[in-house]
Amino acid sequence: MPEPEPRISPLARPVTSLFGVGPERAAQLDRLGIRTVEDLLRHRPARYEDRRHFRPIAELRLGEAALTQGRIVAKGTKWFQQHTRSIFEIIVDDGTARLHCRWWNLPFMEKYFSTGDEVVVFGKPIQLKPRTFDHPETEVIEGGEESSIHLNRIAPIYPLTEGLPQKWLRGLIWRTLAGAEAAIGEPWAGLAEFASRIEYEGVGLPGRARAIRLVHFPETEQDAERARRRLALDEFVDLQRQLVARRRNFETHAQALPCSSDNRLVKPFLAGLEFNLTQAQARVLRTLRGDLAGRHPMRRLLQGDVGSGKTVVAACCALMVLESGHDAALMAPTEILAEQHHANFRKWFEPLGLAVELRTGSHKAAAPTDRAANDGPMVLEASQAGGAPALASDPAPAGSESQAARQPPRPKLTIGTHALIEAGFAPENLGLVVIDEQHKFGVAQREQLLRKGHYPHLLVMTATPIPRTLGLTVYGDLDLSTIDQMPPGRGRVRTFIRTADKLEKVWAFMREKLGEGRQAYVVYPRVEETANGVKAVTREFEAVEKALTPFPIGLLHGRLKPREKEAVMAAFRRGAVKVLLATSLIEVGVDVPNATIMVIENAEQFGLAQLHQLRGRIGRGFHEAYCILLTAASKHPEAQPRLKVLEQTTDGFRIAEADLEIRGPGELLGQQQSGAPRFRFGDLVKDWELIRRAREFAQGLVPG
Ligand code: ADP
Ligand code: MG
Repeated sequence: MPEPEPRISPLARPVTSLFGVGPERAAQLDRLGIRTVEDLLRHRPARYEDRRHFRPIAELRLGEAALTQGRIVAKGTKWFQQHTRSIFEIIVDDGTARLHCRWWNLPFMEKYFSTGDEVVVFGKPIQLKPRTFDHPETEVIEGGEESSIHLNRIAPIYPLTEGLPQKWLRGLIWRTLAGAEAAIGEPWAGLAEFASRIEYEGVGLPGRARAIRLVHFPETEQDAERARRRLALDEFVDLQRQLVARRRNFETHAQALPCSSDNRLVKPFLAGLEFNLTQAQARVLRTLRGDLAGRHPMRRLLQGDVGSGKTVVAACCALMVLESGHDAALMAPTEILAEQHHANFRKWFEPLGLAVELRTGSHKAAAPTDRAANDGPMVLEASQAGGAPALASDPAPAGSESQAARQPPRPKLTIGTHALIEAGFAPENLGLVVIDEQHKFGVAQREQLLRKGHYPHLLVMTATPIPRTLGLTVYGDLDLSTIDQMPPGRGRVRTFIRTADKLEKVWAFMREKLGEGRQAYVVYPRVEETANGVKAVTREFEAVEKALTPFPIGLLHGRLKPREKEAVMAAFRRGAVKVLLATSLIEVGVDVPNATIMVIENAEQFGLAQLHQLRGRIGRGFHEAYCILLTAASKHPEAQPRLKVLEQTTDGFRIAEADLEIRGPGELLGQQQSGAPRFRFGDLVKDWELIRRAREFAQGLVPG
């Protein structure tokens, strides 16, 4: 008896082990990322052609893509411009009419076709007299055994690479499937059964082996989609299993810092606010309180549309942690925003006797501005002087100078930019990390800041509403809370799309509103360079100043020095500057309620979610607000329908879903967010239900 061969799954074998795959074909397949049999079987068709039904050539319609079939009755190449240009043409006849198929400057195409060949042609008529396809997709049909793979069925059309024929690849996949199908197993026990209970068009999803067959050679159109869904489910389960495992692992190993807050600081803080929390804010706050008292450190994503009031919620959360004697850090993506937060938090916290530090590129390691120790506890000192011993034993907001010296350093909040990640920032006792505008940071930066403490609590905030599918994938290891309600008394924001030639009217409208005392933003896509009619903020300054005389105008963009930016922002907040010309730098966080007009030039250059975010800068006060999106209609006719979404709704979630659909997850999550997973079969726009089910299955897989 010979030794049994070591068992290599047929799926793991290299493609070179397949009949007909020599070095040249293997190199071509390699360019498509196909190295093993399994890679080959997972090569997803780009589309399908229903070759059971062909459109008669006589019935082709202008501009309408169609599949047709016929015999080549003539072919030839025409040369012109001293033999530097060519058109190769075949004429196909199916008995109803003739079709001209042309290829420009590809004279070698000639060798692929012979008069008399049967061809399948997929293309779009660019004219009907004569009927003509330019650069159609074609396949010469040969008789014999193989024809049943390519004809009279729904045929897969694969992504190719140079030199690799469609028909050859289809034949290879067909034959490989026949040999390897039996070796395709289920990735997880129980998944086949689970999948069979997820229906598409009344039929449960198939087993994996069957799905792989059907994704290549479906018998019906529904088969192809059903198979795609099954293979997508496998991808989602794989990702969710990792996310769930990471989360469980974290929960086993990370001990939470005990932060059962006693409201000592939260209560006076809330009482001192000039408004009441909305129900949504209060609900989220209860959740956060539960998190902080839990066994594991909090890991929470807080989403809420621009202006929904995430900052006060973060402030309460910080107070709860400070109450328990730990430090807190808040990281914001821009200096302007960090400074604005710093100003707000000082206003809120210093009366409570808490120090708030700022740490940005330009405010490095600000010497402990222990202003709080001087300003805050005045009242306490006075009462102590009156001899109230109860207060002296209170560890809260410091006591006398000598006591302060004996006591451990008072917990404090540090607000900053990326500068917080640098080595200089070394908090004693970090209990909470808050990340504002998460989509501007990468996951790595978040982790770096977390490592400054020992499993501190984490609160991540974002105003870019995260479509549900992304919530469960990109942010799948965080718990999710949503502030789904706006504070009362907000003015409405009305949005208008206008073509650039209406600019004069826009200025007239703006002058009127400025005259009533309001302020405005004008946003440009670029700082300096202009190209293709895309405007730059520094180049427009003079023209706008002239158009809006006598109203004072300020300029804000990323290339200014931090001190210059600060000065302009301060002047705008004070109302000394009436109109702020800016780049999308102001997208995050800036809060000036008297600003009620925003004009966005070259709006087509921005994503919908980003425009929504920008628009969130206005409508923060009681006055009606106006957002005017200007586009160069002639250059970007496609922009108008896209932007319409913004005219129609102010619902950030709908806008984010539309953006996801139009531009894909990478754009929506921002460049920094490299964490967007890529799927071959899964679709983050459509597959919410599958992702949800995959998570459910994964939760059962990972021991809890
Ligand atoms: P965002 O969620 O976009 O970060 P902010 O926290 O900046 O929003 O809040 C926007 C504005 O609304 C701020 O001026 C803030 O003080 C105010 N605000 C927050 N909560 C309320 C509330 N419950 N009632 C009234 N105004 C509020
Ligand atoms: Mg904010």
